[in-house]
Amino acid sequence: MKTRWITTVAEMKAFRAETPKSLALVPTMGALHEGHLSLVRQAKTQCDVTVVSVFVNPTQFGPTEDLARYPRSPEKDLELLRSLEVDVVFAPSSTEIYPAGFATFLDPGHITTVFEGAIRPGHFRGVATVVLKLFNIVRPDIAFFGQKDFQQVVVIRRLVEDFNLPVRIVVCPIVREADGLAKSSRNVYLNAEDRKAALLLSHSLERAEEMAQAGEGDAQKLLEEIRKTFDAEPRVQLDYAAIVNPATLEPVAQVIPGSVALLAARLGTVRLIDNLIFGPSGSPPQLRLQLPLTTQPADKESSATPRPEIESLRLSIENCRDCAAVSSISLPPREFLAKYLKRDYPDLHSTRVLVIGRCAPINPAGLPYCRPQALNRFATGLYDLLGVRNFGEFKPRFALTDAARCHATVNRVDGRTLEYCAKHLRQELKLFPNLQSIVILGEDAYLQFQKHILSRQLANIKPFKQLLKSEGWAQETAPLPWYGQRDVRIFYCYHPTFDNNKSPSLAPYLE
Ligand code: AMP
Repeated sequence: MKTRWITTVAEMKAFRAETPKSLALVPTMGALHEGHLSLVRQAKTQCDVTVVSVFVNPTQFGPTEDLARYPRSPEKDLELLRSLEVDVVFAPSSTEIYPAGFATFLDPGHITTVFEGAIRPGHFRGVATVVLKLFNIVRPDIAFFGQKDFQQVVVIRRLVEDFNLPVRIVVCPIVREADGLAKSSRNVYLNAEDRKAALLLSHSLERAEEMAQAGEGDAQKLLEEIRKTFDAEPRVQLDYAAIVNPATLEPVAQVIPGSVALLAARLGTVRLIDNLIFGPSGSPPQLRLQLPLTTQPADKESSATPRPEIESLRLSIENCRDCAAVSSISLPPREFLAKYLKRDYPDLHSTRVLVIGRCAPINPAGLPYCRPQALNRFATGLYDLLGVRNFGEFKPRFALTDAARCHATVNRVDGRTLEYCAKHLRQELKLFPNLQSIVILGEDAYLQFQKHILSRQLANIKPFKQLLKSEGWAQETAPLPWYGQRDVRIFYCYHPTFDNNKSPSLAPYLE
């Protein structure tokens, strides 16, 4: 396969216009190393077409920073990307991206004033601006970024959410040298002595992790230990060390799984950054990337009868390249129904009603399957709607799953996410051979069901609010193809958590 080298915006746009397939973008500044290549490999497993951009973005460098001497190795980069069979290398010039008259920049808000933002004023303004431009030019379905630049990931995720960009962000773990130093294009500037001293970054993070594993949860104590290690090595100046909440970057007092330690240090003129996501002992990086949003361990699988069809569905969802398995700090909990089927539904034939909610909650502890006694707003609203008092009454009659298992943090789930998740929902539905009714909670689940399960055209789907307007609920009877076109009753209701309105109880219709 030939790797195409594109240098103009016009040609890149034309390529995208001719490419109906799923497309991944890996933005880089070149001088590629194994860290970048890990992103490319991940991208190739998740999309049909992979574009790697190589652009040393001038607007993210400050006036005193190293733009002119930033390492560049275009021939070697191309060779590496060819060997990985990348489809397109997009390597525009500065003037192609910032033509004369360019004037508009993004302001990513307060995050630009802390850590890298505080030390490199304007840096994230430049990053957000160029990434938005690249997204607009390349129009990727998924874009890949490294955990190595943790704050950058937080900025990009905000950008995508704030501007409703139709792109999924996947974050890949930090790739390190054999001795632990995080791979970076800037490592080539370290002389032998500094290269040795640079190990302080990863070593001090490892030390903090050891202490946390041994039970030290006080962030200040861990930071003191990190600072002490740096004080002992005059070659390395610590710019900052902090332990933060991964979503807000606010410092935390107590370390929990998912908290992130951020470090930046200087060796002469070379600045290095590193970070660590705290997690269970020995947990793999992929899992840690999910921890910021999934702090609850998966439930214990029951040892009951083997249920190969459930297991294969569970694995297919966990390994889905489109949604649940995306290793990303943007990954919400995977506590969808497939995980609980074996334990809670010994006989799938007896379930008559499936309830489809909107998305797995940010805190899985709130999910009835995780904490059956929980009576939070969702559980109370759900039980009221169905006419049961608690989870004990719910479980023998109903099963609960979600329309969207990814991007659950955004207020409005985008259509593409609903499409990704619909295939798993369909598989879950098929597991219950005797379903008589389906209860749909809220607009996202409604849209997903209408469009992707009942295969209706958007133009023929009534707006949700209009549908529910007079009664507060609506119903229809529709045949589902995999039940041999057997009719199933479908109830559409307000969502107990996301909607302000409340639907009346469906109990009389669900006997
Ligand atoms: P850069 O060329 O430095 O802008 O990096 C391009 C992408 O590669 C960014 O998303 C970085 O976070 C990612 N990256 C850089 N170094 C590493 C590494 N050691 N491990 C994983 N990803 C990395």
